[in-house]
Amino acid sequence: MSERPQTVTLTIDGQEVTVPVGTTILEAARALDVHIPTICEHEATTSEGLCRICVVDVNGGRLLQAACVTEARDGMVVDTRNERVERSRRTVLEMLNASVDLSQAPEVQDMLDEYGADRERFPQALRREHALLDDNPFYVRDYSQCILCWRCVQACGEDAQYAFALTLSERGFHTRVATAFDAPLPETACVFCGQCIGVCPTGALKPKIEFELEQGWSVEQVREHLGQARKRRKRA
Ligand code: SF4
Repeated sequence: MSERPQTVTLTIDGQEVTVPVGTTILEAARALDVHIPTICEHEATTSEGLCRICVVDVNGGRLLQAACVTEARDGMVVDTRNERVERSRRTVLEMLNASVDLSQAPEVQDMLDEYGADRERFPQALRREHALLDDNPFYVRDYSQCILCWRCVQACGEDAQYAFALTLSERGFHTRVATAFDAPLPETACVFCGQCIGVCPTGALKPKIEFELEQGWSVEQVREHLGQARKRRKRA
């Protein structure tokens, strides 16, 4: 029986590259120093192809493919930045911008500029607006800034902490990150490890001290507030 090949050779933006079987197009491109933009992809979490910003043209096929989850195959011809790819990325960015507060997402802001996104393209789009959640001493959650990249849910679950305090709730436009039964975080399995904050690409998850300083509180006010919270926890 002939052995299965261990590598595949493909062409990305005109450059040939040979990579181990199982390598994604994104990883193969990185091996060539070809930049493909990503939002939901993160080195600490499992790629799911959710945000669609990393789409590339594979063999001129009818549908663009998410580079973070599409395996490189022998003989593939990949174009990472033709007109079709750029238009798709620009539209994704414009839709995100129309519905989510991206003011504290610097990497996405840079992409909006790079792809020449029209920030006014969908003026009548519904905004995804949520009340700020401030239910614990450590961090606040502002899901009006959430782009549903899923990174926090993955870090809280099987990719890192195995706490499973966070999940996705509802469907379609109303999809949101939540705790089970919308319980306050202290009443969930959350251990306040902060890994969700570490992987969040926007201002949706923020340490409380940072949030309070941004609100104009003085260091003394922040300290006093922390002290009060500690006393409350001891009494509880
Ligand atoms: S809160 Fe942050 S990390 Fe979690 S899904 Fe939203 S944007 Fe992604």
